[in-house]
Amino acid sequence: MKRVLLFGGGATLVLVALVAIGLRVPAIQDFLLERGVTSVIAAEPIDLTDPDSMTLIFCGTGGPFPDPDRAGPCTLVAAGGRVFLIDSGSGGPQRLQQLRIPMGDIEGVLYTHLHSDHISGLGDLALNSWAGGRKEPLTLYGPPGVEGLASGTFDAFAVDSKSRIDHHGEDIFAPQAQAISATSFVVPSRDETVTVIEEGDLKITAFKVDHVPLENAYGYRIDFKDRSVVFSGDTVRDQNMVRFGSDADVMVHEVMGMTNINTFIG
Ligand SMILES: [Zn+2]
Repeated sequence: MKRVLLFGGGATLVLVALVAIGLRVPAIQDFLLERGVTSVIAAEPIDLTDPDSMTLIFCGTGGPFPDPDRAGPCTLVAAGGRVFLIDSGSGGPQRLQQLRIPMGDIEGVLYTHLHSDHISGLGDLALNSWAGGRKEPLTLYGPPGVEGLASGTFDAFAVDSKSRIDHHGEDIFAPQAQAISATSFVVPSRDETVTVIEEGDLKITAFKVDHVPLENAYGYRIDFKDRSVVFSGDTVRDQNMVRFGSDADVMVHEVMGMTNINTFIG
């Protein structure tokens, strides 16, 4: 019996040693990464590419205070195969992964404003959408400052991005997709909207909401065929939500949760 146990222990040690050595071999690392990306991110993925569908997924409903139960502000909208996030709060990519969302399908982020809780997941999103097969630069839309968010994030992750390409190759990490582009815009007044995207049946417009002291805090309205959804971003009760959202099919509006309030007042 002892001999069997010793043999068993020896076999285990050999197996552990082989795994340890194998994990240091680049080809095996590539294989595991590819399998990991495929099985974890894209296993049984939700199909966001249906040309006739509009899909809304909440990937974060928290706020600026760390919350074990909520990721930061993050909502996914897919319309006719185009996939965007509204804000990229911390923890959003983890929620997307849990939901088996193919992150490589995400082409851009529409920022309501640039408070930290709405932007802090961008680095993880950029990497995971890239690893998930995104072939074009991630595009950010939002108020002035979004260019700096794009360039600063790109610079912060430059060493990481280069190492991903060097390590895993251009088939997995397409070099042209590591870039983060940005388009900023200003909504001239509370009475006006700005058309952010209008292509085919998809139209995305932005309007001002009240999130003082920020001058440029936006709500978004997304129209696709005969469907529509409106996002408030962070705002107090604002007549613009009525003006631009009263006839929408779905309205996603900020509320202040008691957990956040209790954390704030101590
Ligand atoms: Zn805010």
